[in-house]
Amino acid sequence: MQFAPLHTWLPAKNEPLVISGPCGAESLEQLLATAKGLNDLNKISLFRAGVWKPRTRPNAFEGRGEDALKWLAEVKKEFGFKITVEVANAQHTELALRYGIDVLWIGARTTVNPFSVQEIADVLKGVDIPVMIKNPIHADLQLWIGAIERIYNSGITKIAAIHRGFHYYGKTKYRNKPMWQIPIELRTQFPDLPIICDPSHISGKRELIPFIAQKALDLGMNGLMIESHYDPSIALSDAEQQLTPQQLNELISKLIIRKPDTGDANVLDHLHQLRNMIDEIDDELINVLKKRAQVIEQIGVYKREHNITIFQLERWQEILRTRAQWAEKLGLSRLHVERLCQLLHDESIKIQNDIMNK
Ligand code: PEP
Ligand code: MN
Repeated sequence: MQFAPLHTWLPAKNEPLVISGPCGAESLEQLLATAKGLNDLNKISLFRAGVWKPRTRPNAFEGRGEDALKWLAEVKKEFGFKITVEVANAQHTELALRYGIDVLWIGARTTVNPFSVQEIADVLKGVDIPVMIKNPIHADLQLWIGAIERIYNSGITKIAAIHRGFHYYGKTKYRNKPMWQIPIELRTQFPDLPIICDPSHISGKRELIPFIAQKALDLGMNGLMIESHYDPSIALSDAEQQLTPQQLNELISKLIIRKPDTGDANVLDHLHQLRNMIDEIDDELINVLKKRAQVIEQIGVYKREHNITIFQLERWQEILRTRAQWAEKLGLSRLHVERLCQLLHDESIKIQNDIMNK
């Protein structure tokens, strides 16, 4: 897949690029008041609003549907904002196109369903409209990629992924756990696919939004989608995670922008030296791993000769415990070293297995 660069379809008004607007379009007044606040900032590149809201339980606010599309056309006329809405099926998509919506997005609850994504893709065949695809609710990178492929296969290259975190059945301070390794893996597989982070839906509460937004920028994400409302306390959905335009302005102004590269020769030179050190350390590390593998082989041969089982629970427990203690003494993360031990142990079992089966 080859994606159109983000700036060709969504020029940034500000660094970082920010998409904002309410969780849901509730009334013309709410949209106009919020859009006015955002327009005054002159930092928002795309105005968002949910027109059909996928709610966990029935009888919650499910969006104003077609009426809201008419209101959004007014927002566009009044302030010149480009508009994006969520579409979850073919009918939504047809309506959004009819009302001149500029960018579509597919929500987390839709990305999980290949039938829904395909019916949206079918409507979009031959249509030139950008589509942003949120990650599926659960941590399944393949499903996210699959949805991107379905839209791409309908002829659309103006695509961005939106990272909004993943459902986690356990204790977490986030509404949706960020699991940063997943968008990083997506970036690794598709380096030219723009990724926008949605700190509102990751955080679930406004206090956490700045931290997530900064982290997204530090990881090289291409923009932020943050929900805003002229008065979040009366929002009909996601009230806890929306900011007033003024709060959004403060947040944006505090963000530190980092570049993937710098033109400063001194900075590059120093970075180069540090990277050389890492190269040397990794070289040493690999040599140590080789030495370790050789001793493991000797152990394997010895166990075979003496008919001893490969896996020794007590020895393994001792390894985990002692290494974690050693790590802690040096100020290293216990978890990190435990994970490393697990990898080493898996490899050690494999080497010894090969020897037993020789
Ligand atoms: C939204 O953006 O308001 C929304 C419903 O998000 P998500 O699909 O990420 O839950
Ligand atoms: Mn929302």
